[in-house]
Amino acid sequence: MKYLITGAAGFLGSHLTDALLAQGHEVIGVDNLLSGRMKNLEKAAAQPGFEFVHHDVTEPLSSNCDRIFHLAAPASPPLYQKDPVGTSKTCFLGTLNVLELARETGARVTMTSTSEVYGDPTQHPQREDYHGNVNPTGPRACYDEGKRVAETLAFDFRRMHGVDVRAARLFNTYGPRMDPKDGRVVSNFIMQALTGKDITLFGDGSQTRSFCYYTDMVRGLIRLMDADNIDAPVNLGNPVEVDMHHIARIVLDIVGSSSELVYKPLPEDDPTRRKPDIRRAWEVLNWAPEVPVEEGLAQTVVYFKNYVLDQVA
Ligand code: NAD
Ligand code: UDP
Repeated sequence: MKYLITGAAGFLGSHLTDALLAQGHEVIGVDNLLSGRMKNLEKAAAQPGFEFVHHDVTEPLSSNCDRIFHLAAPASPPLYQKDPVGTSKTCFLGTLNVLELARETGARVTMTSTSEVYGDPTQHPQREDYHGNVNPTGPRACYDEGKRVAETLAFDFRRMHGVDVRAARLFNTYGPRMDPKDGRVVSNFIMQALTGKDITLFGDGSQTRSFCYYTDMVRGLIRLMDADNIDAPVNLGNPVEVDMHHIARIVLDIVGSSSELVYKPLPEDDPTRRKPDIRRAWEVLNWAPEVPVEEGLAQTVVYFKNYVLDQVA
C-alpha cells in the first residue's frame, strides 16, 4: 500500500516510516522540519519505496495514497508554546488539509491526538469517554485545544463525508530519535545526566506521567490503522504511572551520574496526574505495551550517549 506520513522526520514519524517500509509498503514522508531532522530518515532514504516531501501541512496537500498517518505537530511544551498561533494553525489547518486529501482520495486516516485533550484531569485514570479539564486560554491551550478541534474535524468529516478516520490519543512516549533539545522530560533528564548538569525537576517532582516506549506505540498505531470498524478515539499509552522523581532516579542510576536534583517552578497548567485507561485498545486492537520503563530508558540512554559523542567528535 502507499502511505503518506505527515511529521515523518520527527521522533515517532520516522520510526513509523521505518516500520511500514519494513512491511513492504511505499511511504511518502511529509515534514516542514520544524522539530524533525533528516538524520531520523537516513535509513528510510536509502530505500526505493521512500520519498520525502518538504511541505508545511498548513498548506493544502496533494498526493495519491491509500492511507495517511497524520502526525505533523510540535509536541514538546516549550516548542509548541514558542509559536502558539503557529501551533493552533498546524493543528487546525494541518488536520483540515489532511482530511480534505482523504476525502478526495478515499484514503483511510489515523491521526495522533494526545492525552492533553484531557487537560489536568479530574478523572483518573483517563478513559476515552472523559471529556477533560482544559484551560482554553492558558499557555498549553494552543496544543490542547488544537488537538481537540483536530478531533472535532476528524469526526465531522467522518459524519459528513464518510472519511474513514481514526484518532489515537497518545500518552507520553519516548525513545531514540527524540530531539535532545526539545525540552521534554525524558530527553532533558538524560542529557543533563550525561553531561553532568543539574537535573531540573519542575514543581516538587510529584506530578505523574505514564511513559510508553516507541516500539509499543508504533505497534499500536499500525494496529489501529489496520483494524476494521473503528469509530471512536482510542487511548494508546503505558498505564504504569510514575512521578518525575522516580524518572530522575532511574535515569541517574542507568547513566551512573552524580548530577544534583534542582527544583524549578512548575509551569502553568502542568497536569498533576496522568495515566491511560487502555481497556479499549486491548478490546479492539488486542494491544498493550510490553516494554518496562527501566528497559526503554536504558535503550534511550544508549542513543543519547552516541548523540553526545557525535557532538564532541
Ligand atoms: P516530533 O516533534 O518529533 O515530531 C513532529 C513532526 O511534525 C516533526 O518532524 C515536525 O517537524 C513536524 N511538523 C510540525 N509542524 C509541522 C507542519 N506545520 N507541517 C509539516 N510538518 C510539521 O514529535 P513526536 O513526539 O514524534 O510526535 C508526533 C505526533 O504524536 C504529534 O502529533 C504529537 O502531538 C503526538 N503525540 C506525541 C506524544 C509523545 O509523547 N511523543 C504524546 C502525545 C501526542
Ligand atoms: N518536567 C520536569 N523537568 C524538565 C522537563 C519537564 O520536571 O526538565 C516535568 C513537566 O513539568 C511535566 C513532566 O515533566 O510535569 C512531563 O513533561 P513533558 O514536557 O515531557 O511532557 P508533558 O506531559 O508535560 O506534555
